[in-house]
Amino acid sequence: MLCKDIIKILEKQSPESYALEWDNVGLLIGDCNKEIRTIYIALDATDEVIRQAKEHKADLLLTHHPLIFKGLKKINTDDFIGRRIITLIQSDIAYYAMHTNFDVLGMAELSAQKLNLTETKVLSVTCVRDLKAEQAEGIGGLGKLSESVSLKDYAKNEQEEGIGRVGKLSESVSLKDYAKNEQEEGIGRVGKLSEQMSLKDCVGQVKAAFSLAQVQVYGELTQKVHTLAISPGSGKSAIEAALQAKADVLVTGDVDHHMGIDAIAQGLAVIDGGHYGVEKIFIPYMKQFLEEQTKGEGITVFGQAFEEPFVYC
Ligand SMILES: [Zn+2]
Repeated sequence: MLCKDIIKILEKQSPESYALEWDNVGLLIGDCNKEIRTIYIALDATDEVIRQAKEHKADLLLTHHPLIFKGLKKINTDDFIGRRIITLIQSDIAYYAMHTNFDVLGMAELSAQKLNLTETKVLSVTCVRDLKAEQAEGIGGLGKLSESVSLKDYAKNEQEEGIGRVGKLSESVSLKDYAKNEQEEGIGRVGKLSEQMSLKDCVGQVKAAFSLAQVQVYGELTQKVHTLAISPGSGKSAIEAALQAKADVLVTGDVDHHMGIDAIAQGLAVIDGGHYGVEKIFIPYMKQFLEEQTKGEGITVFGQAFEEPFVYC
């Protein structure tokens, strides 16, 4: 299959237009007309991952976090990003990143399902889908608006353009009045655990669901929790959203000292499963998705074996 046909498949899962404005997603390196037979999937395009992709004779490397994030003025071997880019090009490996677009359409729902949450809602709304327009156009018919746009301006834009498309909205915008065909999407989920339980039991469920050896917990293990918010990745902005959603506990990663103690002070327990720990579900999910979607096309898909980027000593 051509790289551009694989991209069409990836766009069905998580259209690039769902990525947040600061993000950098899509085909970051390579030729979209390149023939693809082998795909390697990982969370980050590290030196080791690129080595493994080469070893597996991959034609395409797919990662969650983009290797190229900020503007580059030089691509040379003096810099580790430059070295990786050069290695990928020299090895004839195309490189695609699906980051916040996958957080919105993929990771959020997947992580909630892992914990069997019910009555789920989006934790941090980033856009509104027009399901009717998507059905008519095929998925990906999204229009971008500034994140700072107000609901009034958004409505005006829609009227002027005369289309039922999707745009990015400020997270603070109230979307309650939107018609049935429009569905809020965004980062993370908040929902109910199967029953009220102790924080300790909840920790056990989180560890089992995400295959985690250990997690960091802020809160009393005996306290009762029922409403759980989950935001895979870095939880910096998730604490405020979890508090607003009246969650008892937040599952996330990258929680620092102040975030942890400040969350407890505001009545929110936090389970930090690690950034990698909670997001690594990207790898098996995308492997299965690509295998299903490319069935009969002679495509082989490999996924990186789970390995934390650090060790506990
Ligand atoms: Zn992440």
